Amino acid sequence: MVEKDIVIIGGGPGGYVAAIRAAQLGGKVTLIEKEELGGTCLNWGCIPTKALLRGVEILDLIEGGKDYGILAGPVTVDFAKLMARKDRAVKTLVGGVSGLMKANGIEVIKGTGKLISPQVIEVVNAKQEKEIYQARKIILAAGSVSAEIPIPGVKLPGVIDSYGALQLKQIPESMVIIGAGPIGLEFGTVYAALGAKVTVLEMLPQILPSEDPEIAAALEKTLRRFKIQTLTGIKVQKIVEGPEGKLQVTAAAGAEEKIFPAQYVLMAVGRKPNVEGLGLEEAGVRFSKKGIEVNDKMETNLPGVYAIGDVTGKWLLAHYASAQGDVAAKNALGQEAQMDERVVPRCVYTLPEVASVGLTEQKAREEGYEIKIGRFPFSANGKATILGERNGLVKIVADGKYGEILGVHIFGPHATDLIGEAVVAMRLEGTATDIGQAIHPHPTLTEALMEAAFDVEGTAVHIPPRKKA
Ligand code: NAD
Repeated sequence: MVEKDIVIIGGGPGGYVAAIRAAQLGGKVTLIEKEELGGTCLNWGCIPTKALLRGVEILDLIEGGKDYGILAGPVTVDFAKLMARKDRAVKTLVGGVSGLMKANGIEVIKGTGKLISPQVIEVVNAKQEKEIYQARKIILAAGSVSAEIPIPGVKLPGVIDSYGALQLKQIPESMVIIGAGPIGLEFGTVYAALGAKVTVLEMLPQILPSEDPEIAAALEKTLRRFKIQTLTGIKVQKIVEGPEGKLQVTAAAGAEEKIFPAQYVLMAVGRKPNVEGLGLEEAGVRFSKKGIEVNDKMETNLPGVYAIGDVTGKWLLAHYASAQGDVAAKNALGQEAQMDERVVPRCVYTLPEVASVGLTEQKAREEGYEIKIGRFPFSANGKATILGERNGLVKIVADGKYGEILGVHIFGPHATDLIGEAVVAMRLEGTATDIGQAIHPHPTLTEALMEAAFDVEGTAVHIPPRKKA
């Protein structure tokens, strides 16, 4: 048995950030990863999808150039090159993580790790050789895998998940997407903008079911610009092989049955924590199929064993995993750290983007808050007009009594960058007045946030006064 200090299983944005933080705090860290460093985020999620989205954004910009008097010849897409560019972006960033491991003196072992007992880990490498490590502290960061729905036909060729959607060789002629969460809508945007006929089927009454209905409705309208058809309140029942080598998806909307033909069916119905094969049961770690149970210090029920990221099943978001990694590493190295669960931003990379943090209007009311709402449309923002991106709005939900910001919801250009300001303001328990009175640079999109904050008190400058009730 080899003695180790801190052993981390999984090198995604949870595990590798925990590794760096632990090394910074003086830990001797061993990171076990069976595939590439960077996990789902860098290899199969955030990074490659956004690289493809940048491609379709460029396509959209070229097409919009005529409004500015910039006329391009016929534009064609070299899909192989677009995919190769995406692969290069992934390679660069994975290489960066690998460099950081070396620079921080972190030992990276390629293999599959599992718990044998509370402080003992078995690692099997590619040659199926086994090694046993004894660790002082263990951080489990094994991530998640795509979920499936239990209907006939999910194993048919042409039924793909996000991994498959990142490896297509040609732009599909048509794609039916099951699930209107971030994965479904991001891939839907990519392939529809590239010319595929995209249909998104969502079981719940709203696309992006957990987002503010006003924002979701604005996005739904915009998706039609790319000819994306979205159907909500529709339940997929089966997938069968249809004529001309196509698949056929049968779905029920109330009593009505509908059939959708498609070259590919993308399963985007969520992801599930990787709790199988980790030795959790054998070692006595408390977990369910929803994930490993942790407290706000990221401790499991076993002393010295922590869990972070998707494997905990809380928010399946890279930035949340990294924040958990930071907390786990600090606690493992003897510091006191706790997760701040109040302020977790959520981002959806459509064109334009959706980003939010905190409570929706409805949730705030359900929690018993008296609220005030501020809104500001990007159509009244100078920079958005310059960019030709006037579609969308900022919506702020604030506490009616003290003005504390409870939630911020943005649909519009660079929403995912803009939400950072709201995150900081909310972490500092800021009020709408704090954002409104902070001098924002002009002309920038951030002024839309400032104006929405003023609008909480009905004092936005660049929209007409509210009608007196
Ligand atoms: P999700 O859970 O966010 O969305 C899945 C959607 O599928 C839901 O709206 C659900 O109602 C719907 N659905 C479930 N069963 C269905 C059925 N039988 N028929 C029709 N619709 C059905 O999951 P996702 O979009 O697959 O993403 C997986 C995870 O990865 C999520 O936690 C997500 O937050 C995360 N993710 C985040 C980003 C981002 O931050 N930009 C991007 C991609 C994924």
